[in-house]
Amino acid sequence: MPDADDSYDGGPVAALRRIAFLLERSRAETYKVKAFRSAAATILPLDPDEVADRARAGTLRDLPGIGSSTAEVIVAAAAGRLPERLAKLERDEGGPLVEGGETLRTALRGDLHSHSDWSDGGSPIEEMAFTAMELGHEYLVLTDHSPRLRVANGLSVARLTQQLAVVDAVNEHVAASSFRLLKGIEVDILDDGALDQTDEMLARLDVRVASVHSKLAMDRHAMTRRMVAAVQNPFTNVLGHCTGRLVTGSRGTRGQSEFDAKEVFAACAEHQVAVEINARPERRDPPTKLLRLAIETGCLFSIDSDAHAPGQLDFQVYGCARAEELGLDPDRIVNTWPTSRLVSWANSKIDAAAPDSVSP
Ligand SMILES: [Zn+2]
Ligand SMILES: [Zn+2]
Repeated sequence: MPDADDSYDGGPVAALRRIAFLLERSRAETYKVKAFRSAAATILPLDPDEVADRARAGTLRDLPGIGSSTAEVIVAAAAGRLPERLAKLERDEGGPLVEGGETLRTALRGDLHSHSDWSDGGSPIEEMAFTAMELGHEYLVLTDHSPRLRVANGLSVARLTQQLAVVDAVNEHVAASSFRLLKGIEVDILDDGALDQTDEMLARLDVRVASVHSKLAMDRHAMTRRMVAAVQNPFTNVLGHCTGRLVTGSRGTRGQSEFDAKEVFAACAEHQVAVEINARPERRDPPTKLLRLAIETGCLFSIDSDAHAPGQLDFQVYGCARAEELGLDPDRIVNTWPTSRLVSWANSKIDAAAPDSVSP
């Protein structure tokens, strides 16, 4: 029998998923994580007895997607021992990501911005949903990219239509829980401020994040007009990472785009559009000065992970720490609202707009 200190009763799939989660949350490159996610996917459908037999017989590596390091994890977990790799990660990376933010984090009910492997995320939709459930979320909004963002494999009308059916299927699968995967999009704000998806598709979604991803260096006046037009669009619920800056990380750094923040935030306040506090460490967007301005302007906020992998769903706490530090009232953060209030807020302007008053 293993001694109490290194016993583990989660089983091999949970061990592999937990390793992947901890790697993603510590911002490891996707390729380092992939082996663990693939190995978990390989053994998930197998009979646990078969896995245990193979672990004892040393034939795990005959299975597709199982290599030496993943086999080692499976052998330990199948024998009821804590895998060494997992123990080390729990020790090195399992602690709090940031000082502060925990109180607000527990008040958040869900996340409004996440990506799956349908666009530029690293994991299937269901894996994102299951991890969100494990984090205690009541909902996760799936917001893959819109068509024009080809580098991120943005979703056409046809692919988004398919995705909505998958979201329905995932929700049926978890119907016994109180969790819901909400239909969403991170829709590109085009150069003239229009949104990069048809009104018909936007109307089928629960929540929409609108973000600028191109021509970030556009002239200040034009950028202000572009952003205000997007904020005025009745489909826009959240203004994503408003300055587009990158402060750290593998993609390098990038300055903030220039716009009249007073005017943009005033439009957000007027149209009840939430200013996103994008929690990704490489974004930290908006910068503190602008965040203060948005708070003073009376805006609503959404604290989002912008997760591109399950473990990154934990990034939200970075945004919480910033909001807490600036004394932001939790009731102005839409993630603290019950799901029903969130969805009715996100659709109130569409219901109110006559069909012909919706922008073309
Ligand atoms: Zn984005
Ligand atoms: Zn995003």
